[in-house]
Amino acid sequence: MSKNNKLSIGSVIGILGGGQLGRMLSISASQLGFKTHIFDPDPNAPAKQVTNQSSTYQYSDKEALEKFANNVDVITFEFENIPVETIKICQSIKNVFPNAKSLSTCQNRNAEKRFLNDLNIPSTSFVTAKSFSEIVNSIDVLGLPLVLKTSRFGYDGKGQKVVYSRKEIEDAAIKFNGIPTIIEKFVDFKLEISIIICRDMSGKVAAFDPAENLHQDGILIESKVPANIPFSLASDAILIASKIVTSLKYVGVMGVEFFVTKENELLVNEIAPRVHNSGHWTQSGCLISQFEQHIRAISGWPIGSGKRHSNILMQNLLGAHVQELSNNSDSSVNIYGKDEPRDGRKMGHKNCIF
Ligand code: AMP
Repeated sequence: MSKNNKLSIGSVIGILGGGQLGRMLSISASQLGFKTHIFDPDPNAPAKQVTNQSSTYQYSDKEALEKFANNVDVITFEFENIPVETIKICQSIKNVFPNAKSLSTCQNRNAEKRFLNDLNIPSTSFVTAKSFSEIVNSIDVLGLPLVLKTSRFGYDGKGQKVVYSRKEIEDAAIKFNGIPTIIEKFVDFKLEISIIICRDMSGKVAAFDPAENLHQDGILIESKVPANIPFSLASDAILIASKIVTSLKYVGVMGVEFFVTKENELLVNEIAPRVHNSGHWTQSGCLISQFEQHIRAISGWPIGSGKRHSNILMQNLLGAHVQELSNNSDSSVNIYGKDEPRDGRKMGHKNCIF
């Protein structure tokens, strides 16, 4: 398939990763008349309940990946911890969107920060550290409080620790010793926002309205649109996100999270090379959701404008609270089909108009 080929109805979209994002991508792909094939090492991955075909192998299984790639028409992924090597094997056979460079940049916090610095995009002040003494000495450069984050494999607040004193950083340094870590200044932000943006194969970019996000213990609790920010700040955030996708020659949907400081300054916190939890509101607030938008972009179909028709509050349902969704008649409900409602685990979400 050449890069500008448009997939015909009935084509097969391969998705690496079978969590809730893969599940909602698969549902949107099916609405557009595509078939999907989910590749995930977990036989019970939620997306496998809503797909035509699935493969249950490790991401390092070259033979299984080659077979998968040969059986689909285009490949995408639903989370940033897929090994870059997996993408390289797949892209030797079929197009993979977003590209490997976008994945490698976003899956390592240090690479992500360097990429943002090179584009002159403001992000939180940080230092890199690995040893006990490098971690403790970061106090001398950045002061207190600080946020320690493992460079890789962190999500939903995992691999993260906020420290307020020298004693706390010394305790944390014992745990983080030997692990590549970035240490950020704690930002006393006014609020957090995110931009869900999409770039198609021809370079056209469309963004959804900024969402105002509330996190607890690093986990997203709710997203509200419109965000309570001035129009100029919303435009600046979209311009920054646009610069990021354009510079990476990105194809598909990306989530860019920002802190808005008390001085109304924007700092990029994190880039997610995929559909994003803070974009679930688009399922109810827009004609074309982030999931349909992503499938359109990677299939060479025209992407939507991102225009919003309603004000939406999206709330995540964590752990055993998921049962509450079944009592809802004033919200649009999404349950992810996970069998173990562990504490803090994202089990579903709901959207309501306000
Ligand atoms: P992250 O995994 O980097 O997206 O962090 C998850 C959440 O932790 C963010 O959305 C913030 O609510 C909080 N957080 C992360 N880094 C910082 C920081 N440098 N200052 C203040 N809060 C932070």
